[in-house]
Amino acid sequence: MKFRQTMPLALLMLGAATMPMAAAAQSTTAETAAPAISLDTLRGLTETLSSDEFEGRAPGTPGEELTINLLAERFAAAGLQPGNNGSWFQDVPLVELTADPATTAFSFTANGETTDLAYGSEMVIGTRRVVSTIDVENAELVFVGYGINAPERNWNDYEGLDMTGRIAVILVNDPDYQTMTNEGLFEGRAMTYYGRWTYKYEEAARQGAAGAIIVHETEPAAYGWNVVESSWSGPQLNMDAADNHMDRSAFEGWVTNDAARAMLAAAGQDLDALSEAARQPGFSAVPLGITASAHLDNSIRREASRNVIAILPGSERPDEYVIHTAHWDHLGRCTPAPDGDDICNGALDNATGTAGLVALAEAHAAAGAPARSLIFLAVTAEESGLLGSAYYGNNPVVPAAQTVGGINMDGLNIVGPANNVVVVGYGKSELEAYLERAATAQGRRVEPEPSPERGSFFRSDHFSLARVGIPMLYASSGEDLVDGGAEAGSAAVEDYIVNRYHGPSDEYNPDWDWSGAVQDLELYYTIGRALAETTEWPNWNPDAEFRGARDASRPASD
Ligand SMILES: [Zn+2]
Repeated sequence: MKFRQTMPLALLMLGAATMPMAAAAQSTTAETAAPAISLDTLRGLTETLSSDEFEGRAPGTPGEELTINLLAERFAAAGLQPGNNGSWFQDVPLVELTADPATTAFSFTANGETTDLAYGSEMVIGTRRVVSTIDVENAELVFVGYGINAPERNWNDYEGLDMTGRIAVILVNDPDYQTMTNEGLFEGRAMTYYGRWTYKYEEAARQGAAGAIIVHETEPAAYGWNVVESSWSGPQLNMDAADNHMDRSAFEGWVTNDAARAMLAAAGQDLDALSEAARQPGFSAVPLGITASAHLDNSIRREASRNVIAILPGSERPDEYVIHTAHWDHLGRCTPAPDGDDICNGALDNATGTAGLVALAEAHAAAGAPARSLIFLAVTAEESGLLGSAYYGNNPVVPAAQTVGGINMDGLNIVGPANNVVVVGYGKSELEAYLERAATAQGRRVEPEPSPERGSFFRSDHFSLARVGIPMLYASSGEDLVDGGAEAGSAAVEDYIVNRYHGPSDEYNPDWDWSGAVQDLELYYTIGRALAETTEWPNWNPDAEFRGARDASRPASD
């Protein structure tokens, strides 16, 4: 719909109608009754943020100005304070690289014969380096299996290898992803960070590789080639860094499974045999004895986007912080639907979570300051690769070591209350004890995510804070709906993924049932409040990827 009527700001500010707080009513603890989560805030803010006037909230567009100013107004009206030295905003310097598709090239040469792969249908490449031209000529290809260097798991696919001037050919996911359980050196079916494509490029760069190419395969990647192709074409946003990312490989990319087979066959190798070998402990990388070349011409544009940061100072230990996060950005103008609608409104993703962030802030402010401070962080450029949260993680307005822990929201439940709560990244942190208590008080079960192989834990903003050690929880309603059970729940999820996810039809619907979102927000409120009142410092569990980062930043953890 193109001509959506937006609600005037003044009307939004009234926010009077609320829903009773079920969790508080059922609570058997001595906690004081919590204030209600405002349904008006959830509805009104989601409708406004996802209106066509906001143009899909892409970073650097007029939609950004509207969004961040509205959020600052709402936080101020709720009685919070600006979180960044008197400002509501934190500048996030970004750089946009747009490769000329006409001159983007990747080819391999074997036995004097050069094969060009077609950009888009057979390969995609790009660069993190902020330079106008990339040229890699006749660099040797090396098959490095899963491209993992994990000393704590005694696994190094780069053992004894000098990758300088060479191109790594890498499998997606991790060596034991085909296991049916979550047990194993790389947590079995569950994807570890070593399985994530972003890790593959980071490690190849650390090894000094000139280029890194991932072999696409739908099942272990968790998405089809079409997703790779669309997300790697057009302008690519990245953090603007002083070193212009010259520490990264000259180019990074993906090839289709068929193209990879052809490339390996030209080297006298078989992808299936190599993959089988790569899953075995002690695997040694295979120099392929053939070369590849890559070329890119970039146009470069710099821009700043902004995170929005509000704070409710603590009454007793204001220099200890509990954080709630949600990304405000979405895709902006996008591929038009058949009806011509070219605005990806991002109503569910993540106008709902952003509205939830404001609703939580209002509820906490209404209850009065807890012992510790509460930070409400609405980050930018999540859709471009978690850039706003990554920037915050590297440049936090308060020390990461003083940030007790937090909760991220990305897409609220708009299909009614659920009997279960699903944890993405289950088993990683001691925050789950807080969740267990709060969920039990609501009469709900806590369960692991049903598809840990998708690597969802690495795909929203909590991960950026986890990487710097801050314990983060990412949990929400499961599919077992109070009304209709698992069948209704999975049908609703399927409908969203197939018909709305990242498309122009992710639009606000006045018929949404908000009671499930309110149930989840009550849960987040209870956990956030408990963390803000306790003197505890919950940590990552000993085997979690981020425990080391936390212990390093809080050596005297009590
Ligand atoms: Zn999202």
